[in-house]
Amino acid sequence: MNTLLPETAQSDVAPVIGRFAPSPTGPLHFGSLVAAVGSYCLARQAAGRWLLRMEDLDTPRVVPGAADEIMRTLELLGLHWDGPVIWQSQRSGAYSAALASLEQRGLLFDCGCSRKEILASAPHPGEEGPVYPGTCRHGLAPGRRPRALRIKVPEEQVCFVDGVFGSHEQILSRVVGDFVLRRADGLFAYQLAVVVDDAASGINQVVRGADLLSSTPRQIFLQSCLGYPIPSYVHLPLALNAAGKKISKRQGIIDTPESGREGVLVCRILQFLGQDVPLSIRGADPVEVLSWGVTHFNIRRVLMCDQRLVGNENKS
Ligand code: GLU
Repeated sequence: MNTLLPETAQSDVAPVIGRFAPSPTGPLHFGSLVAAVGSYCLARQAAGRWLLRMEDLDTPRVVPGAADEIMRTLELLGLHWDGPVIWQSQRSGAYSAALASLEQRGLLFDCGCSRKEILASAPHPGEEGPVYPGTCRHGLAPGRRPRALRIKVPEEQVCFVDGVFGSHEQILSRVVGDFVLRRADGLFAYQLAVVVDDAASGINQVVRGADLLSSTPRQIFLQSCLGYPIPSYVHLPLALNAAGKKISKRQGIIDTPESGREGVLVCRILQFLGQDVPLSIRGADPVEVLSWGVTHFNIRRVLMCDQRLVGNENKS
């Protein structure tokens, strides 16, 4: 079996370009702010740029006003981004072009299966849900209408070294199977959009929540199919609620930081990420706390974090 192993992370040789890529499906919560602060500190520590991309591609899930609220929260916390905001909803031309290039190379196929059929054919779904069984890979059965567009994945192991979690490998054909790039509802899939956008912006340092660790091999595979450089990856531990579950937007552990307590929130985020924030700056304004974070952020400390937040403690 072949192994796809990105050789040099691009950020070893080029000026760092990082990003924060929230989905405007609600206000930022503690978990998403962890990704914002972590990606900001690591990009700025390397004297790099830090971009903001609104992942408003999944239009049915986008909440009106959420993007404005996200930008307001970032500004309140002193998380100032470089350049104009990138809106995925305005980039369908780039996604279509990427699909056309994959299509030309014979990597795509129409799939006529419904979710129910895939589920029925994969009775023991893996951690990424049911593994696509390859039903339409060699052509649609007569009478089937095309629904989603999928990419063929080889029997290949994708390996990468994450900045926090270390070496990670996945055999795509066993864990996810041929995956969707354009959904049955016509929307471009997250996996495609993220790869096309990161490449278009020259992102070479991706810092985000560990819930996306298992998506990374799909993204590295797509980058290699499209001839894009491979960024370096850092996945940050997820903030968990008292029950040990990932904090969701609905739980709203933090919506907008309380006025006058923005610095306290940034301190809590840095502490959550295992950083040893000195007492002297715990009451400081967010810009001062962030500037401490930029200078002192130590990625080796991240795994020392205690992922469990108790109730609304960060509002106390
Ligand atoms: N939009 C995704 C989210 O809000 C993040 C995507 C990424 O960082 O690659 O979870």
